[in-house]
Amino acid sequence: MSESTGGSQQGAVQHAAVIGAGQMGNGIAHVFATSGHQVTMIDVSADALARGRDNIAKNLDRQVKKGALEASLAEAALGRVSTATSLEAVTGAQIVVEAATERTDLKFRIFEDLDRLADAGTILATNTSSISITEIAARTKRPELVIGMHFMNPVPVMQLVEVIRGLATSDDTTQRVMALSKALGKTPVEVNDFPGFVANRILMPMINEAIYCVMEGVGTPEAIDTVMKLGMNHPMGPLTLADFIGLDTCLAILEVLHEGLGDPKYRPCPLLRKYVAAGWYGRKSGRGFYQY
Ligand code: NAD
Repeated sequence: MSESTGGSQQGAVQHAAVIGAGQMGNGIAHVFATSGHQVTMIDVSADALARGRDNIAKNLDRQVKKGALEASLAEAALGRVSTATSLEAVTGAQIVVEAATERTDLKFRIFEDLDRLADAGTILATNTSSISITEIAARTKRPELVIGMHFMNPVPVMQLVEVIRGLATSDDTTQRVMALSKALGKTPVEVNDFPGFVANRILMPMINEAIYCVMEGVGTPEAIDTVMKLGMNHPMGPLTLADFIGLDTCLAILEVLHEGLGDPKYRPCPLLRKYVAAGWYGRKSGRGFYQY
């Protein structure tokens, strides 16, 4: 039931589009597909699309081997994933979830294009880790339909979706995205639009401090991660987690916190800048605080 049911109310989502096929984008496409939605994954890079699709296939296979998913359902889910290199493929989707690289100028451009290309009434959500939903929404003529839908990594495994209301996001859009997140098997939590929202406002200063500890020689990455795992009962240490998130993404989030909140306590550690400048992005590039 994708047609309008009157007023600003829309029916349930049948078809979703995901922008970006990177680690988050393919995970988001995965959960849409396994929960019965058609999903089109769109990326500027054909290689990224091929890798993204492979990743979905591998992760579905892992779920089958663990007994968490029947083989026939995994095959059907993969059959619901299509790919495209042009944003024009958003036509027909009732929701678009943008998960492209964490860069403000890029997200602004994508949302201007999405506003032009997506059907009227389509919700435009962003998986941004930190960029202002209000500012992204202001690039469109439908700010009431723009919202943050912040999934956690790895998306098929992690339970939380941080749902972020921009200044103009409507109650109707918020309720529909909360309901959709539950339909995807997740637990949504509603928060307001401030730099870093809740998750990264609290997580990134901890990661940044761990990087200062490496830079100042307080401990090796292994020592720091072990202290946090055994001492604080964290499932993984902050430097392992930073490598997993992507050091380029961590730096981009810290820049948003630093600029948006204006407090020097958020200044990104120079060692993090150095690693990113060297192309040491963590797990996805093969090297970060650890080698992969
Ligand atoms: P990534 O580098 O793995 O993937 C980004 C993808 O976006 C790439 O495949 C790239 O080709 C594509 N892309 C770039 N420009 C594009 C465009 N104009 N149109 C379509 N695709 C484009 O990054 P990621 O880790 O998947 O992060 C994506 C988003 O998710 C970011 O906003 C990030 O802050 C957010 N996020 C990341 C994490 C994490 O742990 N990595 C967690 C939550 C949210």
